[in-house]
Amino acid sequence: MAQQLDPATREALIERVRFYRDLGLTEFYRRPVDPALLAAESDAPHSHPERPEGVEGPASSISAGAPSVPRLPAEWVGDHEAESEAIPGAPGLDAESWENTPQPTSQETPTIAPRKPIFTPPQPPAITPAADRAAALQLIRDDIGDCTRCALHKGRNKIVFADGPPDARLMFVGEGPGADEDAQGIPFVGKAGQLLNNMIVAMGLQRDQVYIANVVKCRPPGNRTPEPDEGNTCSPFLFRQIDVVRPQVIVALGATAATYLLGQRQPLAGLRGRVHAWRGSQLIVTYHPAYLLRDPRQKKEAWADLQIAMRELGLNPPAKS
Ligand code: URA
Repeated sequence: MAQQLDPATREALIERVRFYRDLGLTEFYRRPVDPALLAAESDAPHSHPERPEGVEGPASSISAGAPSVPRLPAEWVGDHEAESEAIPGAPGLDAESWENTPQPTSQETPTIAPRKPIFTPPQPPAITPAADRAAALQLIRDDIGDCTRCALHKGRNKIVFADGPPDARLMFVGEGPGADEDAQGIPFVGKAGQLLNNMIVAMGLQRDQVYIANVVKCRPPGNRTPEPDEGNTCSPFLFRQIDVVRPQVIVALGATAATYLLGQRQPLAGLRGRVHAWRGSQLIVTYHPAYLLRDPRQKKEAWADLQIAMRELGLNPPAKS
């Protein structure tokens, strides 16, 4: 005569199966039992108490050799287990019935919805025809309007949208406007801008051949780093600009630009010196010109980064005059 599981053991068993299920383990096999042992047990049905492996609770509460076992509730096991009465590790099957027991096939495998992917990589955007890019950028500028979406609007004079041709092959992304940029409404026109201009010329280009924009379009007070809510509010406009211009190469100037573009905060040293694939563009990270003004020794490193950009663009440095 089979013994019913006492409530505590039953609950423990339910928890155990649920735990396995959460791990994606849904196939359970019955352990073959020595027939001689079973024969002995059939004479003394309750003399050899055993419990399913790993199930907490009093061992004596589970009978060995029980001819029938309680059905597991359908809501916490797959259909297969519920229908087949198979309890993980349940004793009581003789060798013959083990051999004759059809082993689970893929059809019998309980259906468990596949896990949803946590992160779907963004698809490269549709390409805006070159002739439509100026209008597409103007639409973005119109969307920004006289922006009050974050606190930076309170101290700004001018929104600094961008500078450069809408079909540029090379784009520079900075952090945010400084005092000069805020006054003129044009990015990188102060001291850092002069150094950036020199860097562009060293690459064999002119400033009017490259597109320049920032993570935030209003000047942070005292030139501080934009707060996360400011960067997160404003950066979608930058992404839209990039999607329209679709530059072959983007150079992120400094940690803020790199963080918002790559979506992860990492020391600049680990991001520099290589090419990151980014929404159809090649992204290269280097030092911010303002930092290079403070520590000119790093210019050599920045030049190495710019040479990677030049290689990607197929540019040769201009011959020295
Ligand atoms: N620094 C930036 O990051 N952007 C500018 O436009 C000027 C200085």
